[in-house]
Amino acid sequence: MRKRLLVALVVVSFVLLLVSCTQQPKTTVPATTQTQQFVGSVNSDKYHYPSCRWADKIKSDNLITFSSVSEAKKAGYSPCQTCRPPNQ
Ligand SMILES: [Zn+2]
Repeated sequence: MRKRLLVALVVVSFVLLLVSCTQQPKTTVPATTQTQQFVGSVNSDKYHYPSCRWADKIKSDNLITFSSVSEAKKAGYSPCQTCRPPNQ
């Protein structure tokens, strides 16, 4: 009986591990990090990876592009909490 309980416990923890792994947000690290550009909206103070779902919602009229994080920072922008671009 105890052995069966142990097996069930192992199975459950394995499933939990699997679920927690698949639920982690995908971190797409681009191969060209050095030349990565960031985008922002004139109506907000967040900068994004161009692939961010929020960046997708920015109208092209309001879209501004930063060639580096320091440029975005200089303009008073802070990193998006969704796509998490570098903070420096
Ligand atoms: Zn974003």
